[in-house]
Amino acid sequence: MKPPVVFILGGPGAGKGTQCTHIIEKYGYTHLSAGELLCDERKDPYSRYGELIEKYIKDGKIVPVEITISLLKREMDPTMAANAKKNKFLIDGFPRNQDNLQGWNKTMDGKADVSFILFFDCNNEICIERCLERGKSSGRSDDNRESLEKRIQTYLRSTKPIIDLYEEMGKV
Ligand code: UDP
Ligand code: MG
Repeated sequence: MKPPVVFILGGPGAGKGTQCTHIIEKYGYTHLSAGELLCDERKDPYSRYGELIEKYIKDGKIVPVEITISLLKREMDPTMAANAKKNKFLIDGFPRNQDNLQGWNKTMDGKADVSFILFFDCNNEICIERCLERGKSSGRSDDNRESLEKRIQTYLRSTKPIIDLYEEMGKV
């Protein structure tokens, strides 16, 4: 059986990570945050992609999918091999654009089944306020007003159409 995957989408600060923490307690999914995996990779001094990732994140842009997918796969493969019961994934903050979706389909087709999308619909002003509040202690280089304006634009321009696409398929 192919492992089921639920994509978690919504604007920056919509509450994706927070709700995933609750969901895994109750439903036993394995939670993977694409954004957190990228941040961890950025911090790894041996990574070839550190600088590139930092630039994209600060600019609110979407990192090339090859990098994101390789990080997701690096987490998923051993989990799937080690424990069939943990074979259900919440993938948080992905896919964020067409490039992400195509990359996923190309690499994961036949290996995992996207069950549905969980969409956290939160208005932009509240999203910005929450991230600014979080920025006081998160240490994230993108939780500031300048990056946030860009992240919201990227969300509206690139991510929302992906949610709409799944909506048309009746999968949201
Ligand atoms: N990001 C990306 N590809 C992904 C997920 C995240 O490029 O698949 C980058 C993007 O620059 C984004 C940042 O990582 O703005 C932070 O993403 P995260 O999901 O952590 O932010 P959140 O929406 O949870 O605040
Ligand atoms: Mg998050």
